[in-house]
Amino acid sequence: MNKLHSRDIQKVWTVQERKISAVHRAGAVLEPGNWKDYDPFLLLMEDKFEKGAFDIHPHRGMETITYVIDGTINHYDSVTGEGGKLQSGDFQFMTAGRGVVHNESPGEGESVHLLQLWVNLPQKYKMVEPRYQNIHIEDAPIRHEEGAHIRVYSGSSGSVVSNTLNYVPVTFVEMNIENGASVIQDLPGNYNGFIYVLEGSGSFGGNNVQAKKGQALWLGAAGSEPSLIQVTATDQLRLVLFAGVPLKEPVVARGPFVMNTEEEIAQAYADYRNGKFISQ
Ligand code: MN
Repeated sequence: MNKLHSRDIQKVWTVQERKISAVHRAGAVLEPGNWKDYDPFLLLMEDKFEKGAFDIHPHRGMETITYVIDGTINHYDSVTGEGGKLQSGDFQFMTAGRGVVHNESPGEGESVHLLQLWVNLPQKYKMVEPRYQNIHIEDAPIRHEEGAHIRVYSGSSGSVVSNTLNYVPVTFVEMNIENGASVIQDLPGNYNGFIYVLEGSGSFGGNNVQAKKGQALWLGAAGSEPSLIQVTATDQLRLVLFAGVPLKEPVVARGPFVMNTEEEIAQAYADYRNGKFISQ
């Protein structure tokens, strides 16, 4: 373990929450448009909303990771033809592939607080069959450490491995760390990644950068060596960490479609208009 390259924190920023509508507030943890810097991630929104914030809509060429921080959301999708319910600590990994049509909404009079991360798909997987993986909090494996527990939703943490299927290798863990305790998360050196602090505060990386609730931290590069990122809680800390292999491909994104070329985007809109979008 002591051969792992200890990563620094490259930058820290504070997420600004904005009012989108009377029933929806949102903050961009990862602002869209920074395709090269955030590769393989496209954007991450923190949303707080009630019924009516979103309507039924399509996606192609990417995946979404939805993580419910608080509340309950009902989802409907074109793959199963029905839906399900996600509650606090539950997670959904939706591979849109060649096309899904879906909707997400809290129940009448309820609200939900969640994170939605868009993960890009490489050219060879953009048109794969859609796939939904719903993982409820009690089914996520947990790594226990002194003063800490780490839920492993995708990838691995130490010797604890998630069985979530990935097209693009992605690590997604949630950490709860008591004040004064430390956790070391191992990561392949070529992964890009970041941390978002949900509660409390901590000290992060080899350069001991301080951050608190509502702040995000981009992990410094590690070259090709195996690496680690160190986290120490300075106040009861809850965070999520996402990391993944960069694709290094051109990104053309329009609305809910993320492809490699303008022609593929035009095709996605044409297929959606012509009813050729969803698998029959
Ligand atoms: Mn969507």
